[in-house]
Amino acid sequence: MLDAISSAHPLSSYAVQLIDYLLQQAISLQASDIHRDQLIRANAVLVRLKLLSNMDITEQRRPQDGYFNHSLGDSSIDIRASCLPGHWGEKVVLRLQHPEIKQRTIHQLGLDIQQSQCLINYLQQPQGLMLITGPTGSGKSVTLHSILMHLHQPHRNLVSAEDPVEMGLDGVHQTEVNLHIDLDFSHILRSMLRQDPDVIMLGEMRDSVSADVSIKAAQTGHLVLSSLHTRSVAETINRLQGLAVDLAGLSHCLDLVVNQRLLRCLCQQCCRPLDRQQLQAFDSDEIQQARHDYQQQFGPIAPAMAIGCQYCLQGYRGRSGIFSLLALDNHMRTAIRQRQLELLQAPINLRQQGLYKVLAGMTTMAELNRVIVN
Ligand SMILES: [Zn+2]
Repeated sequence: MLDAISSAHPLSSYAVQLIDYLLQQAISLQASDIHRDQLIRANAVLVRLKLLSNMDITEQRRPQDGYFNHSLGDSSIDIRASCLPGHWGEKVVLRLQHPEIKQRTIHQLGLDIQQSQCLINYLQQPQGLMLITGPTGSGKSVTLHSILMHLHQPHRNLVSAEDPVEMGLDGVHQTEVNLHIDLDFSHILRSMLRQDPDVIMLGEMRDSVSADVSIKAAQTGHLVLSSLHTRSVAETINRLQGLAVDLAGLSHCLDLVVNQRLLRCLCQQCCRPLDRQQLQAFDSDEIQQARHDYQQQFGPIAPAMAIGCQYCLQGYRGRSGIFSLLALDNHMRTAIRQRQLELLQAPINLRQQGLYKVLAGMTTMAELNRVIVN
């Protein structure tokens, strides 16, 4: 099929080369997404991308999702494609699953030492509920996958329900949601429970049935991991209540809420330390407080600025997470039952952890402000 189309379209060899070139660039710059509206001669490119991703090239009115694998030297990269019709034509977005991100361990996510230890301690529990929260594109799936990899042991039965399965994981039985055949999260979850799992990962807590089944599973000897598109612990509890979850039941089984965002990292090839004048401008009240805490814990600060070079995009290369972890104690469980959500405060919030990364020269104030408004 591919060859037939290739020879039929004079522009298609150009499209093949252009897509190969773009993917190579995106891989070497560690870009997370490619948007097709940056491309020229778009029709041939669009057809090529649809073919690669196993989409229907004649369908132009409905959204389509697909997947392909691109080889680069000895390694290969998985790519998720999504196509959306629009007034000016179809738009394709490619999401790249970089191999080094795919294999990220808990220690490589961006958690500080206390946070990684808290998470690893929690994962030794045989049962309970853990939620990863954050807006779309905040790295929740990567965190969930690295946790599953951490839990992978021959004697453990690990299962996951995902929409879609973004990365294949060794030792995990992964089932994909398929709404065309009415296979949704709650269906998969119910079937999973009949297979005696130890750990259940539910890609997203999206409806009241899957929320209810997850909580019951967490109360009956299973470790349940899931995610929600929420921005804070309070919003998470409100969302669950909106899904008709019983707060008393939730307060008994919910053990850990992780809130996260992704920050672009400064390119270490070209970033430059702030000079004296820039340091003065940089030194706000917020920075002074963070600097005091930072210096006590980690030593001298080293803030830097983005420059830009051939190895990066506008001075940034790769991304790292910032996290806030709330491990629930008895007071917090009571606070959930009594809906005193203002009492649910993590020891370190996202903004604070982001400021430490700015002070360490890993990212910039502009990047932190882009992701988390002060
Ligand atoms: Zn650079």
